[in-house]
Amino acid sequence: MSVGTDLLDLQELDLALARSRAELADMPEIKALARKRKAYLKLKDEALRLMGRRKDLQTELADLDQDERDCRQAVDDAQRGCVDPSDYDEVQRLELELSDLAKELDKIAFAREELTRRLAEATEQEAQAADYLERYERAIKSDAQAARDKASKLQQEIDDAERRRSALCARIPEDFLAEYERCLKSFNGLAVERLDGAVPSLCRMTLTESSLSDLSREEGITHCPYCHRMLILSEEA
Ligand SMILES: [Zn+2]
Repeated sequence: MSVGTDLLDLQELDLALARSRAELADMPEIKALARKRKAYLKLKDEALRLMGRRKDLQTELADLDQDERDCRQAVDDAQRGCVDPSDYDEVQRLELELSDLAKELDKIAFAREELTRRLAEATEQEAQAADYLERYERAIKSDAQAARDKASKLQQEIDDAERRRSALCARIPEDFLAEYERCLKSFNGLAVERLDGAVPSLCRMTLTESSLSDLSREEGITHCPYCHRMLILSEEA
C-alpha cells in the first residue's frame, strides 16, 4: 500500500466515522421515545383520575347504604313506639313521620340507581384506561430496547472504525499524517483528493501539463495548486 492510498482510505474512514457519530448523537428514535414517555405520564395521570372517581362513587354508595339503614331503623322505631289510637294528634304525627321516611327511602332508591349506573360507567372507563396504559408501556419498552440495540450497533461500528483508524495511522509517516490533520481542519473533512487523468477529484480544476510537471512531489503526493488540498498523484507504492 502506498502512503497516498492510506491517506485516501483514512479520509473515507474519517467521513464514515463522522457520519456514524452524528447518527448516534441525533437518533430520531431517542426524541420519539422522549415524546412517548411524556404522553405516557399524561395517560397515567388520567388513569389515576379515573380510579379516584370510581373510588369516590363507591364511597357515595356506601354512604347511601348507611342512610338507608338509618332510615329503616327510624321506621322500625316509629312503628314500635306505643301510640294511643284514640289520640288523634299522636296518630296523625306518626302517620306524617312514616310518610316522610317513605319519601326519604324513595329518594335513596332513586339516588342508588343513578350512582350504580355512574359507577358501572366509571369502572368500565377505568379498566379501558388501565388496559391502554399497559399496552402503551409495553410499546415504549420495546421501542426503548430497539433504540438501545441500534445505538449499541452504531457504537460498535464506531469502535471498529476507530481501531482501523489507529492501525492505518500507525503506518502513515508522521509528517504526512500531520499535514492530513491540518488539511482536515482547513477543508472541513475533505483533506485529500486524487488525480483522475489531469483533474483533481474534489475541486475538478484541470491541471495543465506544465503545472503538473512544476509540482514537487514526495511519495507521489503534493498539494493541489488550485484548492491546496493534499493531492495524490500516484497510488502506486
Ligand atoms: Zn484541488
